[in-house]
Amino acid sequence: MAPGDGEEGGHYKRGRGAGDCKDDDGENGPDKRCRVAAGSACADGEDGTGDYYNISGDGDGTGEDLIYYYSDDDEEAEVGVSTIQRDERRYVVLSEDDVRDRQGKDTAEVAEVLSVPPGFATALLRHFKWGKTRLKEEWFSDDRRIRDAVGLPAGGAPAPSALSRRELVCAICFGSFRAGRTRSAACSSHFYCGECWSGYLRAAVDDGPRCLSLRCPDPSCAAAVVRELVDAVADGADRDRYARFALRSYVDESGGRIKWCPGPGCTHAVEFVGCAGDDATDVLCDCRHGFCWSCGEEAHRPVSCATVRAWLLKNSSDSASVN
Ligand SMILES: [Zn+2]
Ligand SMILES: [Zn+2]
Ligand SMILES: [Zn+2]
Ligand SMILES: [Zn+2]
Repeated sequence: MAPGDGEEGGHYKRGRGAGDCKDDDGENGPDKRCRVAAGSACADGEDGTGDYYNISGDGDGTGEDLIYYYSDDDEEAEVGVSTIQRDERRYVVLSEDDVRDRQGKDTAEVAEVLSVPPGFATALLRHFKWGKTRLKEEWFSDDRRIRDAVGLPAGGAPAPSALSRRELVCAICFGSFRAGRTRSAACSSHFYCGECWSGYLRAAVDDGPRCLSLRCPDPSCAAAVVRELVDAVADGADRDRYARFALRSYVDESGGRIKWCPGPGCTHAVEFVGCAGDDATDVLCDCRHGFCWSCGEEAHRPVSCATVRAWLLKNSSDSASVN
């Protein structure tokens, strides 16, 4: 057995200092349904998102771990709940609509506070792994550097796209187009016709989620191609595929804070709100699929992830030698 395995309460030790808890971003928004807090310093304490009450702490450091429950929690809350139920209070299961709602709220908030169009807000949030607090802090200390990294024009309220004000030659197909018939990305310098733009977008979306980081077709230009431009120039199916990648990025690019449930056919995501990073932490999705937060395999506590990995490897090599 690996060190730490099976040690009762390994995740719930008393007196865990705040330094043990990496809440990457300090996000404690009021929309966060925090069901956490088994002795964890990560608990939402300040924002009044719910009434906690302590049902088992004895205050003298000798007895049970502190476990807090939401007073409106509809789940059974008992002292001595099984391990997986206790773990459940350290994460939140999100439906695809929950993910969409949160992403929409975060994007709208950042767009308003930073005075940028939503497409740029999305690009900025992705750059910061969807951590809006850190984005806002760094933006207000040095927005120039962040604009450069993401491909936003320097200074002022940028426009995601511009239409030409005079007759221009499309720099891809060399056709000549009247004023208003060619369009640029945020650079307002390199103009292309609608057909060339939609072809450019199609190729980008075919390439997968990297289309979210698309730049101006001019090889010397780093101006970002963002949602507003995509919606204006891409064909319907490509627009939908782009939107799909954009939605998934809220989880895929969360820096491991949120993960998709690996259960068959499940579209839920799970957000860890406690102190993640421990070995072998089981979570139970609303689809009833239990999986290990650390390695993604089926729930396997108290066996360590390394043991499970070795066992799976052995099984696959055994079956390969039989065949
Ligand atoms: Zn063209
Ligand atoms: Zn450009
Ligand atoms: Zn699931
Ligand atoms: Zn594991």
